[in-house]
Amino acid sequence: MGTYNLLIAEVTCAHCGVKYDTRIQFKYGLLWLIEYQPGDTIQWDTSRWNGRYDAGSAALKKVKVYGSNELDECPLCNRKTVEEFDIFIERNIITSFSPMETYQCYLESDIDDNGDYVLLEA
Ligand SMILES: [Zn+2]
Repeated sequence: MGTYNLLIAEVTCAHCGVKYDTRIQFKYGLLWLIEYQPGDTIQWDTSRWNGRYDAGSAALKKVKVYGSNELDECPLCNRKTVEEFDIFIERNIITSFSPMETYQCYLESDIDDNGDYVLLEA
């Protein structure tokens, strides 16, 4: 399964400060190339495939999800900008996202062997 979802987001170039729109890939919820925006509610497989394509669980209160920026070169200055993001999901709603602080927590995730998300609050 190589499928993921997308967060359509406006990010800021770390070099020139320009804001631009990009898509951030992440694996949480029903993995079906669903396009989300900040504030949207995560969708889950509601029986069709018996949860086979779900990553995570609707029951988790607060998680941090690894996100990979599809457009990590700034369209204005062409320099490499933020490649990876932390996406915060609280009660199934995408509440915020920010440049990733560290990848280590994903590697050490107790709840997900693939390193796609970590549990912040059960
Ligand atoms: Zn730039």
